[in-house]
Amino acid sequence: METINGRILLKPGREKPVLNRHPWVFSGAIAAIEGSPEPGDLVHVANRRGAPLATAYYNPHSQIRARLLSWNPNEPLDTTFWRTRLARAMTARQLLALAPHTTAYRLVFAEADGLPGLVVDRYGRTLVMQCLTLGIERRKTMLVELLAELTQPAGILERSDTDARKKEGLAPATGLLWGAAPPSELDISENGYHFGVQLLSGHKTGFYLDQRDNRATVCQPQFVAGKSVLNAFAYTGGFGIYAAAHGAAAVTHIDSSAEALEQAEKNVTLNGWTRPSDEYIAGDAFAVLRAYRDEKRLFDMVILDPPKFAHSQRDIERACRGYKDLNWLALRLLKPGGLLATFSCSGLISADLFQKVLFSAAVDAHRDVQILQHLGQAPDHPILLTYPESAYLKGVLGRVW
Ligand code: SAH
Repeated sequence: METINGRILLKPGREKPVLNRHPWVFSGAIAAIEGSPEPGDLVHVANRRGAPLATAYYNPHSQIRARLLSWNPNEPLDTTFWRTRLARAMTARQLLALAPHTTAYRLVFAEADGLPGLVVDRYGRTLVMQCLTLGIERRKTMLVELLAELTQPAGILERSDTDARKKEGLAPATGLLWGAAPPSELDISENGYHFGVQLLSGHKTGFYLDQRDNRATVCQPQFVAGKSVLNAFAYTGGFGIYAAAHGAAAVTHIDSSAEALEQAEKNVTLNGWTRPSDEYIAGDAFAVLRAYRDEKRLFDMVILDPPKFAHSQRDIERACRGYKDLNWLALRLLKPGGLLATFSCSGLISADLFQKVLFSAAVDAHRDVQILQHLGQAPDHPILLTYPESAYLKGVLGRVW
């Protein structure tokens, strides 16, 4: 069993977030560190009188000095602890009853599953793991063994090639951790639709699993059948595949990655369709949308699913201008009565702020926008009430006049 190798004493008045079960302790909240914990060691987090409130793992190289694992300071953080947390995450996914139509989903969503710094996505019989923190990196071997025991996968891959690792003082890491490597292109099913996923070279862990439900909601037959759909930031087809399945007359996919679009086109074939009316445009979505506006080209539906624009507090203003420009352009491309499905995956931009940005885009574009539905992340990416940072994906489906 791991020993507790130190004690973090919080500054007066800074214990509130800990008592409220928020999983992070920032450097600024710390009055003193007792003992000499090594990076990644377990520590107690205590109030200023020294009474322990929680157990955490520690990283002196990160602004988030400690990530809390248990609010019972006496709970032993042994293998059973980690197994129980993983098993709880698995149970929560089983209760979503995604199988058999959906074979790819997020099994572990880090802090939101009580496993700070650990992401595990399941693609059929292969697991893809992201170790985002030093605390998880140090326990990787144990976690891989537990995952193998609990899920009996064919293989476990690592895709710890995210920027988040830099903030923890860690280099990127990718490769096979356990069992057999998957084929270079793995066929997954999502709500019965097929996608080829490249687990070692695709974005994130290979696929944008968080948009699963929104693809189904936005691309319902009554919205897309017989319609022209602009699928901006298409990646490997995503929304466009659902639109095609539900009878869209033509889908225009735009993405800056020609490779992703090649896969999008392959995915159409994988589903057994031939769609000569679809287009695949490799380029900057802002520039392509501007060109369509100049040509006065119009669509029945525009989908905007851009990458994260705000990476830190100081990006927020610039990000909002980006979202506004993009949505303003999209509004100019819609026929009266058309639909706009627009998203932001910037955790730093709240749903409220995003809606304000859409408001100003609508005013400037002289269009009336009626919100039909607010959209969020799929439930295999749960939002932990005590950790609002876990809510990062927001979207709006609007009717545009
Ligand atoms: N809608 C997709 C996921 C989109 S992720 C799905 O359902 O699977 C964001 C995508 O935007 C990535 O594929 C990335 O290659 C692309 N991208 C990033 N910047 C871009 C730009 N300026 N213009 C067009 N595409 C861009």
